[in-house]
Amino acid sequence: MAERMKAHAVSRLELLDLAASLRLRVAADREGEWTAGSPPDILADLAGRIRSCRLCPLAATRIKAVPGAGSASAEILFIGEGPGYEEDRQGEPFVGKAGQLLDRIVKAMGLSRDAVFIANIVKCHPMRDPSTPEARGNDRPPTPEEIAACRRYVDRQIAAIAPKVIVSLGAVSAKALLGTSEGITRLRGRWAEYRSPDGKAAPIPLMPTYHPAALLRDETLKAAVWSDMKTVLAFLGRSVPK
Ligand code: SF4
Repeated sequence: MAERMKAHAVSRLELLDLAASLRLRVAADREGEWTAGSPPDILADLAGRIRSCRLCPLAATRIKAVPGAGSASAEILFIGEGPGYEEDRQGEPFVGKAGQLLDRIVKAMGLSRDAVFIANIVKCHPMRDPSTPEARGNDRPPTPEEIAACRRYVDRQIAAIAPKVIVSLGAVSAKALLGTSEGITRLRGRWAEYRSPDGKAAPIPLMPTYHPAALLRDETLKAAVWSDMKTVLAFLGRSVPK
């Protein structure tokens, strides 16, 4: 009897191992099968993958993943740091107070949310204390490991949209996209270039600027951001508000 129970336990362990390896195999297969369709199709495929993604620990505590939103043919792609409290609940990027400020900036540029694309470096909410997801003020920057795990999505979003300009919002986004350790104060307002991971696509001009959340904390930064946005508009040949 004891021998039969032991044999049963071993076979159950083997089954669990087999299931785990099959799950890894399916994940690896999906990784190798990125959709190659129109930009809207690619973005929709990426959004589906992001919503079911469990590649980093943020999957365990998110309420909703936040793939990004906007036009698949946007000239300008804004990339922030990561979803916060409101974004986690709504599944939409930049919908809290910082998002409302970004909306006003986009509108002042003569554009609308639907005409640009807005995304983040990581797609799930990084929390200081994951045991209290209902708490406000619980945001933290993503870790290098979380950024590395999520990087495949933002790179593919950039490739699909092929924007004329990327605007990185805040230090985390600028550092990740440019692969630099320079601070945002030195980076902002100076054109840089985003390069695709395989180096095959043409570099995309990237304007680093402050995150809207930083403007909420320090209003004196608004002038610098507005100056950066006017530089972007001039580069695109659009009319530049006074
Ligand atoms: S943050 Fe990115 S890598 Fe991590 S679970 Fe969410 S989608 Fe996946």
